Amino acid sequence: MFFLVWGSKWKHKRKENGLILYKQCPECNRSGEFFEVIPKKYFTLFWIPILPTEKKKSVFECPNCHERFYMQNQDHYSMKE
Ligand SMILES: [Zn+2]
Repeated sequence: MFFLVWGSKWKHKRKENGLILYKQCPECNRSGEFFEVIPKKYFTLFWIPILPTEKKKSVFECPNCHERFYMQNQDHYSMKE
């Protein structure tokens, strides 16, 4: 017998040349460099991501607890080149 197993899965990829923000995390209260990640939904076959099917607005990930946040423009108080 042969079964096909398919589904979908969200993956977060760090954006190339994305913004890095130095912020305090509201979740773990530690400060660090938050980097920009792009959430992408993949079609998976046997749990392996094959094709990206959906893309969302970028979010910022905490380097300490890996919690992800949406940030408003006014939150960009510190930006690194
Ligand atoms: Zn955190």
